[in-house]
Amino acid sequence: MTEENRELSDLKLDRKECEKCGAQWINGVHVFRGTGNQYTDSELDLAGLVCNNYGNHQCINPKKGAKGGQTWEYRSGYIDGMIEEKKKNMEEMRDKFGDL
Ligand SMILES: [Zn+2]
Repeated sequence: MTEENRELSDLKLDRKECEKCGAQWINGVHVFRGTGNQYTDSELDLAGLVCNNYGNHQCINPKKGAKGGQTWEYRSGYIDGMIEEKKKNMEEMRDKFGDL
């Protein structure tokens, strides 16, 4: 076994879980549970969505208390926008084809 291989096999999966909000960090990288999503600033989004609202001193999110991540207001705004868009499309269809 080469030196390099041995180092790889010694790698441990370092898994941390926030007791409060259930968020997971694998090898120090925040990963969304369920979806397994991982992206830059996901800790900030997690803070805005969960930790800032529900977290307490147990929360291990390093971005807890930080502002600028996604919030539910942002999300619901996003969803409202999508519904609005869909409604508009349907109205356009109705205008074109009449009541189907
Ligand atoms: Zn947390």
